[in-house]
Amino acid sequence: MTIVEEDYIKNIYYLEDEKKGLVTTNSIAETMNIKASSVSDMIQRLLTKGMVNYKKYQGVTLTPKGRQLALDLIKKHRLWETFLSVKLNFSWEEVHDLAEQLEHIQSEKLTNKLNNFLDYPMFDPHGEPIPGNYKERKTKKQWKLSKVKVAHEYIIESIKKPDKTFLEYLNKINLKIGSVIFVRNIETYNHSMEIELENQNYFLTKEITENIYVILKENHIKK
Ligand SMILES: [Zn+2]
Repeated sequence: MTIVEEDYIKNIYYLEDEKKGLVTTNSIAETMNIKASSVSDMIQRLLTKGMVNYKKYQGVTLTPKGRQLALDLIKKHRLWETFLSVKLNFSWEEVHDLAEQLEHIQSEKLTNKLNNFLDYPMFDPHGEPIPGNYKERKTKKQWKLSKVKVAHEYIIESIKKPDKTFLEYLNKINLKIGSVIFVRNIETYNHSMEIELENQNYFLTKEITENIYVILKENHIKK
């Protein structure tokens, strides 16, 4: 598999997860910023390699083989992000771009040694679960911040869009994994949210709250 092929597999995996079904050529082209005709060529290649199932005019899904490859890539990506952050002190907005390159290193032995060296972490620096290490938590439901209720306290669990400028903005307001926020108000007009974080008030746009995941804090009603 080439690096480009692997990037396709990973993107199809995320899209399939998001749409809970068939992934269209157009949606792949859109997320990867590639012409639809190039995507069609690639789908043919992935088809012959047994990585995807293809339904004409409808779209693709990953085969079990494709899915396994996607999970391996995601695991490597998140382990490298953790390594860069924990062992080399990179900040959380720097690690994603580097991990995009490191995830393509082909060595199961290296992945296993890295995993062992990091002591089998369950989450990456953005709070995303690491496949194979993460054990499903049964007790607490994770919410998209855009879907929570006013006047409750929540704990930040993960960031879904780990791009640099977004994380830099979160740095500015000192919002991290594990931060506790109190939801003061949600604007009905545009769904922007007013939160309290470390005794400061901030406004978060819907674009921001759509990409942050939280759990309800134990004693969630603020006194
Ligand atoms: Zn990443």
